[in-house]
Amino acid sequence: MPMRPKRPCGYPLCRALVDSGPYCPEHKRKAQREYDRRRGPEHRFYNSTPWRRFRRWFLSRHPLCVECDGPANTVDHIEPRRERPDLELAESNCRALCASCHSRRHARDGSRWGIGPVNLRSA
Ligand SMILES: [Zn+2]
Ligand SMILES: [Zn+2]
Repeated sequence: MPMRPKRPCGYPLCRALVDSGPYCPEHKRKAQREYDRRRGPEHRFYNSTPWRRFRRWFLSRHPLCVECDGPANTVDHIEPRRERPDLELAESNCRALCASCHSRRHARDGSRWGIGPVNLRSA
């Protein structure tokens, strides 16, 4: 098998060559930390494959919003992830919400879910 050509790390001024991905291992961690600071660790979790898979499965079992019986498209944690990270993929700790009920819940008690006023304004 021919060697795949290495590409330079995408981090400014870094000269390391990488086999795959945009960054060398050192800058991959660094870029991830910067991403977390900008978007928040919540954003990373909600874009992770395990969560996306769980969410799809959960909504297929619970297709209706528990608040208004409309079509659900959001899975909400009953115990916040921050307090019970061990339950973040537990069916018993989740409930289906539609977009408007979900944003109402976050607007009411945003700080508990790690979503501050800044994120709410831009959402
Ligand atoms: Zn690098
Ligand atoms: Zn609803």
